[in-house]
Amino acid sequence: MDGLDVLAVLLCVLVFLTGMVVFSFLNVVIYRLPKKQDFVKGRSFCPSCGCQLRGYDMIPVLSWILLRGRCRNCGGRISFRYPLMEVAGGLLCLLCLYRFGRWNGFFYQISGEMLLAFCVISVLAVIFWIDFDTMEIPNGLTAVLIIPAILSLAVMDGPGLLSRVIGFFSVSLPMLLLTMAVDQAFGGGDIKLMAVIGFFLGWKMCLTAFFLAILIGGVYGIAVLLLKRKGRKDHFAFGPCLCVGTVLAMIWGEQLLGWYLSLIL
Ligand SMILES: [Zn+2]
Repeated sequence: MDGLDVLAVLLCVLVFLTGMVVFSFLNVVIYRLPKKQDFVKGRSFCPSCGCQLRGYDMIPVLSWILLRGRCRNCGGRISFRYPLMEVAGGLLCLLCLYRFGRWNGFFYQISGEMLLAFCVISVLAVIFWIDFDTMEIPNGLTAVLIIPAILSLAVMDGPGLLSRVIGFFSVSLPMLLLTMAVDQAFGGGDIKLMAVIGFFLGWKMCLTAFFLAILIGGVYGIAVLLLKRKGRKDHFAFGPCLCVGTVLAMIWGEQLLGWYLSLIL
């Protein structure tokens, strides 16, 4: 390996670690936000016994493995979700670098586009788990997404203003109409989220995201039914499907849409 290769590998490791640390913090937000606890101040504590975590027990993934998924103090289980989220954060940060980083002839450089995309994905990750846990998307989180959605107009060479304005309504309006016709077809939080996502992605990618979300929701619904975890009348949160659909559309949307169109045309 020459110097540039080493530099590229170092950059990837750094980007991965950054993603892990950010998602480690998001784990705290996901835990505390629905409980209306302050997630900026206050040390992390064990949810079982309430003991404060030491610094060396808060290293992403590594601490969980060393403690074998149990609290050092009380032995209570620490959910596998935490290290899973941290690894996902590292991978998603790398994906953002690959998709939105600037290629300089040797490796992908960190760009404003990449940072913005990772911000959006971070907020979506929080929405994913909070909706999964509580069946509700806090309005504040959708409101936070408005900032990168507007900034992306200047930073990303994505869709134009018209496509974004159409995108704002392209999925949210049909969802709203359907919900007015069929009670509880979609939650209000889902509709508001897709309005903001529509402005961020433009109408074409917003439709792609929604289509993917329905596919994911269908597969998830069938899996849940087969495992008999829920009755047929029970609802499950659709927000997580929308979040995954949106991230897929952000990273591979153009390719997926092209591939799909080549199948039907
Ligand atoms: Zn404990």
